[in-house]
Amino acid sequence: MQYYSLQNHQHRVSFREAVVRGLAPDKGLYFPAEIPKLGKANFIDRLEEYDPLYIAFKAIEPFVGEDIPEHHLKQIIRETLSFPFPLREVEENVYALELFHGPTLAFKDVGARFMAGCLGYFRRGSSQPVTVLVATSGDTGGAVAHGFYDVPGVEVVILYPSGKVSDLQEKQLTTLGRNIRALEINGSFDDCQRMVKTAFLDEELQAVRPLTSANSINVARWLPQMFYYFMAYRKVKQFKKETVISVPSGNFGNICSGMMAAAMGLPITHFVASTNVNDTVPRFFTSGQYEPLAAIPTLSNAMDVADPSNFVRILQLFAQNERALKASLTAYSFTDADTVAAMEKVFEERQYLLEPHGAVGYLGLKKYMQQHPNYTGIFLETAHPVKFTNTMPASLAGKVSIPERVQALFSQQKQAVKMDADYAQMKAWLMKTD
Ligand SMILES: *Cc1c(COP(=O)(O)O)cnc(C)c1O
Repeated sequence: MQYYSLQNHQHRVSFREAVVRGLAPDKGLYFPAEIPKLGKANFIDRLEEYDPLYIAFKAIEPFVGEDIPEHHLKQIIRETLSFPFPLREVEENVYALELFHGPTLAFKDVGARFMAGCLGYFRRGSSQPVTVLVATSGDTGGAVAHGFYDVPGVEVVILYPSGKVSDLQEKQLTTLGRNIRALEINGSFDDCQRMVKTAFLDEELQAVRPLTSANSINVARWLPQMFYYFMAYRKVKQFKKETVISVPSGNFGNICSGMMAAAMGLPITHFVASTNVNDTVPRFFTSGQYEPLAAIPTLSNAMDVADPSNFVRILQLFAQNERALKASLTAYSFTDADTVAAMEKVFEERQYLLEPHGAVGYLGLKKYMQQHPNYTGIFLETAHPVKFTNTMPASLAGKVSIPERVQALFSQQKQAVKMDADYAQMKAWLMKTD
């Protein structure tokens, strides 16, 4: 498979190059040159007969092509899907697809693990290690740290703003050791991001320490997220109804993965993009104008994104045809008050505990299903509630059961290098540390 830059369709690269580069040199996102179609009679209609690992292999294989041999790709898939993806009935016809059973309790584990497997393969046998340099405001850093932990030939350096990530998130970044290092920056997330961007442009540094990014726009993080849409559909297929999936969306990578699966032939009838008050896409659907405003902090903070980078990929999936897009996708936004009310209602009536992102997904699903009551509805629960106990109403936070592996984390020692938001200081550290 070849990939082109969305800024310049003539610029084409292999899967390998798209993964290693992350972003095209012209700053465009990579997009596959073709959308592979999966056979209906011999595959989609018989999905329940196949093992989820085999389904995942069939879904991703055309995107990888020759760049990774079949047996190795299957190994990467096994390591990526090494935890369950349960579908829980929350109400009649309403299901939560739980994506939080991985090592860092959020769906980003899937993309991070798959990307780590691919990059590890591409780096095998090379004499000089590559450094994944990443800034995090929360969930990304932990998923990347765990995904790349102990991958030979890859070093990971994570920058995070001191005091601005939750205790649990900080533990997930700072307790692994080995090839994972954390820099605790005395500054904001934007400072961290600026330092990372400067490093990528610094040829003197790169000559000593080659860098790569594990950004969420990397195709190796985006495409494997299709896997759990196949797994969910495989389970609801027996109901023989139309299926709608609501995705709590920030950068729109996760929903774009589901829509890619549908474009390949997975029979999902409709998607709902559910956002918090950072509603650039819902406003675009009503006004036709794409006008990002400044990001507003909310309870569902992983979705506080004003200018979702993956939305251009969704437009490309529909060849920029807005009418076709609207036939497959609806977008709604919800306030923090709506979010809390949904969390309280679902817990009271169903004893099911949502966290704020999942609650936004639930709200979007319910709103769409008012008009389509006979559909099977699925919303994605993207993180474990334990990650958000500090911002939940106290009445609900007390109900969160703490997974064992989280308890174990809190007894581990934080290891981070404290640093000012000063590029020269970070550069000196990167040049001398191996
Ligand atoms: C990253 C994240 C999201 C948003 O996903 P996108 O792919 O950026 O739309 C939603 N929920 C949680 C918990 C996240 O960490």
